[in-house]
Amino acid sequence: MIRQKIVAGNWKMNGSKESIQTLISGLLDMDGSNSEVVIAPSFPYLSQVHDLIDGSNLVMAAQNASQEEKGAFTGEVSVSMLADFGVKYILLGHSERRSLYGETDEVVASKVKTVLGFGLIPMLCIGETLEERESGKTLEVCERQIQAVIDVVGVESFAKMTIAYEPVWAIGTGLSASADQAQEVHQSIRAFLAKSSESVSEKVQILYGGSVKASTSSALFKMPDVDGALVGGASLDAKEFIAIVKTAG
Ligand code: PEP
Repeated sequence: MIRQKIVAGNWKMNGSKESIQTLISGLLDMDGSNSEVVIAPSFPYLSQVHDLIDGSNLVMAAQNASQEEKGAFTGEVSVSMLADFGVKYILLGHSERRSLYGETDEVVASKVKTVLGFGLIPMLCIGETLEERESGKTLEVCERQIQAVIDVVGVESFAKMTIAYEPVWAIGTGLSASADQAQEVHQSIRAFLAKSSESVSEKVQILYGGSVKASTSSALFKMPDVDGALVGGASLDAKEFIAIVKTAG
């Protein structure tokens, strides 16, 4: 099955009105691409980004959302609010959310359910720490993180989701997984899903994330089970991000 590639930029907690204006005008210079190009600004800038990308092929993601629909949850942002601003994807379970803000597999699964309920697309982030990789637990961890979501929303829901495999040891370290390492895990994730649904496993787009740069992305994108990238640091530089998008074809 041909799966469209997605190249998504996670801006994390970076940017200002001015720097975002500059970054987006750089991105709008991009030639047409066969890939879907996604950017994920911090919440306060969604409105600005929404207006700036209007009429372009750029698509907006949010970096997180509440599992609650509405109500007395001070400081939280609901999925319906994000939908109001034209957000298509929501990153869920990013390793920084899991490790710094205590998001458990169960919380992430509950967020996935809420996001699907509003018709938005979860970008489910999974991945192992260095210690887990070194003790041979990479697949066990990825499968546990996926199973927790299957337990809540069912495997068929993965046809309406994307997965980002992001080894924690590769995020923000400059140390990307090799294309072969990424392929090995992506293929195993697909095989794990195939045990429950062959068609879902063929359809779901699995992105790689972790220190992706233009110099490493073309090898990654040549891998049959790598359907794009979730890019952190390099997505803050329009030229570098465009160069990554170009390698996706
Ligand atoms: C990320 O934050 O999802 C990420 C992959 O970051 P970086 O590209 O900077 O490693």
